[in-house]
Amino acid sequence: MATPTKEIKKPAELPVPNSDFYGLVETLPAEDLAVVKQVRTFMETKVAPIITKYWIEDAFPFELLPGLKELNIGGVGLEGYGCKGGGGLLAGLVAMEMGRVDASISTFFGVHSGLAMSSIYYGGSEEQKQKWLPPMARMEKIGCFGLTEPLVGSGASGGLTTTAKREGDTWTINGQKKWIGNSPWCDISIIWARDLADNQVKGFIVENKTTPGFKVEKIQNKIALKVVQNGLITMENCRILEENRLQVDTSFRDTAKVLRGTRYFVGWEATGCAMGAYENALKYAQERLQFGKPIGSFQLIQDLLSRMLANITAAQCLLVRLAQLEAEGKMTDAHAALSKAFCTSKCRESVAWAREICGGNGIAADYSVGRFFADSEALYTYEGTFQMQNMIVGKAVTGLSAFL
Ligand SMILES: Cc1cc2nc3c(=O)[nH]c(=O)nc-3n(C[C@H](O)[C@H](O)[C@H](O)COP(=O)(O)OP(=O)(O)OC[C@H]3O[C@@H](n4cnc5c(N)ncnc54)[C@H](O)[C@@H]3O)c2cc1C
Repeated sequence: MATPTKEIKKPAELPVPNSDFYGLVETLPAEDLAVVKQVRTFMETKVAPIITKYWIEDAFPFELLPGLKELNIGGVGLEGYGCKGGGGLLAGLVAMEMGRVDASISTFFGVHSGLAMSSIYYGGSEEQKQKWLPPMARMEKIGCFGLTEPLVGSGASGGLTTTAKREGDTWTINGQKKWIGNSPWCDISIIWARDLADNQVKGFIVENKTTPGFKVEKIQNKIALKVVQNGLITMENCRILEENRLQVDTSFRDTAKVLRGTRYFVGWEATGCAMGAYENALKYAQERLQFGKPIGSFQLIQDLLSRMLANITAAQCLLVRLAQLEAEGKMTDAHAALSKAFCTSKCRESVAWAREICGGNGIAADYSVGRFFADSEALYTYEGTFQMQNMIVGKAVTGLSAFL
């Protein structure tokens, strides 16, 4: 006689974590969608499997550079000069897709393609753009952006101590730049210095490897964005030809114009970072059992997941509207500042909840969430701190400046 078998209940199929809850990507034109998908595939198949090892080792994965070049996205959002084009929305989505897997890779790319290339794009003469942008767009020459100094961060607009002195067709630059991403190994530095003649900030294209007096020391022992190599640059009587001074730029207002665009990207990047943390934490919550049940079935865990998803969705919707303003030429410094402050602070809140959901494993690098958690700290601070962004917004809405 056959023994009665107890019916084994098959576990219900659980939804695959998806941080694009409102289907943002579906609204994209087919051409842009193809680029976004290509970037996602690259990040998931080439970057994700190796990035934690590099993060732990404080090293940059040069093995990824050929694949990054093949993506053909250098200068995304910029038109002509070999740049990818495609508009601000596509550029933002590329930053978000990169950030979703690793904020260091999106930072490396943002410094090169955003900060360095757009400094030349907006501030360079036609000749300078023709010369420098095509090899940078092909990522044959990699750039960095040197504004911050050891003693001057938030106060860079009025307080740069790096000086530039013109004699004939040659400028002599002296000073130091701190925290400069990519600088320990890249080819081209955009250096911002105060002209001793008129006290205005000017931009210079400096060739790292061949300029006498230009020295870079790698900053060691960071706890965030460990894959990005940041440097302390020291310039001692660096002689730069007038033809390498950004010809259109005349003051810090021109530097701020570059920062407006790149703060917009940091909003996207931070949203990507929150998305990556959320998806990893959700997967963990679906699989981790406590009290005999997946922790994702507990109300308090679901509450955290909902709050994270709300932060992410709010940031995505804000950024899409900002992309529209950008496309219409209406994005102001205050618009970009609001999104940088909001998206990075919501990212910081979300990655902390993701870490919490992973319990003790949330602080282990092997679980990825710890990496997003640490990296969000740098996004919150670089390209202008939360306080600086809010002071830009505060000035716009009150008509009163809190800057000294
Ligand atoms: C990982 C990383 C990468 C970076 N990459 C680059 C790069 O590629 N190129 C580059 O040029 N720079 C780079 N930076 C520098 C970055 O932009 C600065 O760290 C940032 O602007 C803040 O400057 P600071 O660190 O000197 O802080 P400080 O300006 O000393 O500020 C310290 C604190 O005081 C607050 N504060 C300052 N002034 C006021 C005020 N008036 N009111 C209220 N609060 C105030 C700030 O908000 C902050 O909380 C990077 C930084 C990091 C951490």
